[in-house]
Amino acid sequence: MDDLLIRNGSIWNGTRFEVSDVSVQDGKIVAIGTNAGPAQTVFEASGRFVLPGFIDPHVHFSLDLGKLHSADDFRSGSVAAAFGGVTTFIDFLAPTDNENDLERAYYARLIEASSSVVDYRFHATIKHPKGDLEAYVKKMLSLGMTTLKLFTTYSDSGRRTDDDQIERLLALSERYGFTILAHIEDDSMITMKDFYVPADLPKSRPAAGETAEALKLAGFVEKHGGTLYMVHLSSGTTLDRLRERYPHLLNRKFFIESCPHYFAFTEDVLSRADGCLYTMSPALRTAAERDRLCAGFADVYAIGTDHCPFRREEKEHDRLRDIPMGIGGVEHAYEVLSARFGAAVIPKMTEHPAKINGLSDRKGTIAIGHDADFAIVRSVKERIVSDHSHGHTVWTGTDVDARIEATILRGAFAVKDGRFLGTKGQYVGRKPER
Ligand SMILES: [Zn+2]
Repeated sequence: MDDLLIRNGSIWNGTRFEVSDVSVQDGKIVAIGTNAGPAQTVFEASGRFVLPGFIDPHVHFSLDLGKLHSADDFRSGSVAAAFGGVTTFIDFLAPTDNENDLERAYYARLIEASSSVVDYRFHATIKHPKGDLEAYVKKMLSLGMTTLKLFTTYSDSGRRTDDDQIERLLALSERYGFTILAHIEDDSMITMKDFYVPADLPKSRPAAGETAEALKLAGFVEKHGGTLYMVHLSSGTTLDRLRERYPHLLNRKFFIESCPHYFAFTEDVLSRADGCLYTMSPALRTAAERDRLCAGFADVYAIGTDHCPFRREEKEHDRLRDIPMGIGGVEHAYEVLSARFGAAVIPKMTEHPAKINGLSDRKGTIAIGHDADFAIVRSVKERIVSDHSHGHTVWTGTDVDARIEATILRGAFAVKDGRFLGTKGQYVGRKPER
């Protein structure tokens, strides 16, 4: 007898929905089709959409900013993720500039993340590297990580990786087969003045700075090879220019991630009395930029939420300089984006992030032998009223037409009937080589 039978659901087969049953045993999918055998637990899914559990490849739980700390730790952030149908998230190691600190950061983050209630892995994060880049990369690979985040900006806090180092890392990416994640903004175009208020954020971090840097890095990929994943793309112009200049590389050698907020909001909200609550980096853009980004949605490879909320009182400052950047999003990403883009969002939250992060042998698709991770979705017109994150949420009041009804992690219900049922997450990276 199987452990779980999901009966008569509309199952996502990678391109469309088909009414079918799914059988689960020992946390794995063992059968898909009609005439499934008996099971200990039967979940009646008729009239429901059964999607692969979502993979959020970009969250910041328990982010230490010195005097401030992001509102969600791994426990609260992953509970919010579970309510959003997310069964795997990828967080980041603390930025390091040498391989010894990288190893320490990995083991420190493993301990912090052990309270997670869904599965997880990490991106390594490099900051203004000091030593031998190849030694750093080899250490990362030996620790089982295949994705390396770098910043082209934040020189003021010592996090920037210089152009010659990026070029060298791309050559190493080509040779060793790992993926480079890049925060792309032209550092020289970023300004911060004491008198800036939230409405000045787009001026402080202009869209043109993203476009210029993205084109430069795409050129580096053309020259050196490697695999580049541009995180949190905010402007439609950047996407359009990349498509025009590098159609042969777009979503083949470099990949685009964007976030729900860049499709949902424009910079106009920053001028409101509560504009401080909508501050993140990169900034929200004009309506024209937002509309171009929406028009180019097909070329956005993956959705990451960049989930990094703070408590409301931590965001409520008049001066931009005093406001920690970041908002939440892990819980409502699918609902918000499916209302706009329908089923087109599904691969960008399942199969694609699984592929680019080396998880596709067990996550991201509903297939026999894969982890039995599911988001069960119900079509219903509703308005978002709450959130399980410990941070302030900007999504309250958003109209959606689908809700996550249940979330299943390796065959066990993480969320059902509006309650979290006590799952335990596992690290899904490769184990370190010994
Ligand atoms: Zn981020």
